[in-house]
Amino acid sequence: MSENLKPDQIPGLLNRFLSKKILLMAHLRPDGDAAGSLCAAMLLLRQKGFAAEAVITGSEIPDSCKAFLPPDGLKAEPEIDPADYGLFIALDSSRRDRISASFAASGDPLPAPLLVIDHHSDNPCYGDWNCIVPDAAATSEIVAEIAFRENWTIPPEAATLLLLGILTDSGSFRFANTTARTLRTASGLMEAGGEYFRVMDACYFSKPENMARFEADLLCNHLKKAFGGKFIYTFFLPELLEKYQIELRNTEQVIEILRAIAGPVIAAVIRIEAGGFKCSLRSKDRRYSVGRIARTIGGGGHEMAAGCTINAGSFEEAERILLATVEKELL
Ligand code: AMP
Ligand code: MN
Ligand code: MN
Repeated sequence: MSENLKPDQIPGLLNRFLSKKILLMAHLRPDGDAAGSLCAAMLLLRQKGFAAEAVITGSEIPDSCKAFLPPDGLKAEPEIDPADYGLFIALDSSRRDRISASFAASGDPLPAPLLVIDHHSDNPCYGDWNCIVPDAAATSEIVAEIAFRENWTIPPEAATLLLLGILTDSGSFRFANTTARTLRTASGLMEAGGEYFRVMDACYFSKPENMARFEADLLCNHLKKAFGGKFIYTFFLPELLEKYQIELRNTEQVIEILRAIAGPVIAAVIRIEAGGFKCSLRSKDRRYSVGRIARTIGGGGHEMAAGCTINAGSFEEAERILLATVEKELL
């Protein structure tokens, strides 16, 4: 039985698990919102007296987020025994197979119930309890609202982590998911001691020089357009990543450079990842849903920001599949 909960029903549910260990999980290749909501929720639960731990794979986290992770409570998957926990919480994970802990992603029955807290509108409510708020700019915004509503004391480190999630998922309030509530929540987090400028510095003023050169090379030599300029995209050749010593986990911001260019309404970045062609998609016009494009190819996400993995034998085949799907959306 799956039950949908409002954010104000979460504390009541959690209180049923005060005597149990809680394990928090986020999505594969965690971004600022996954890492931020995960670690902040863990710190908040610990502050409220819960025995909470979080699974995160350190080698997958973008460098820009690493400095914000709390020093303890974080576990690598081999260190945990799922049977030790009385409750699992999945954050920012739109499908069960997106959870970055393999025991939870596999679909096998879990030894304890699962609470899902997420802001993806295409979340099929795969938990025993689901708190899905599609209007929230970030899962971190939902976690912050629960804390504010309940008058929980928010440790400054947790406030900073929640700011990290809100700022990265809203492009620092530039994207259309930003609401007055997002701004109010961020303001409250700053008042709680959240280090806004530390997040800004890490996300926008700390680009390694090799990354800047890699991006320049991409823009000069590997930019493609289609459909009369309405679609703009690029792809990372392994040789280019090698040339500039770039790790894939640090490339999630590249799509924003394409999105900032005037003219195109849809932008995409394709890279080879885990046996497929991982594609990040962004829309600049509400009439065109990249969520629909990603879902057609077996992925998902939001209407304006989505992703998928294209199963193809070559880059050219992946490109053909993507172009055909984008063309249908642009019609
Ligand atoms: P990304 O392009 O990886 O930054 O992802 C943009 C949005 O799409 C995020 O909300 C992701 O959670 C979601 N997303 C990315 N890849 C997938 C996928 N393969 N399946 C479902 N959702 C995805
Ligand atoms: Mn995310
Ligand atoms: Mn998110």
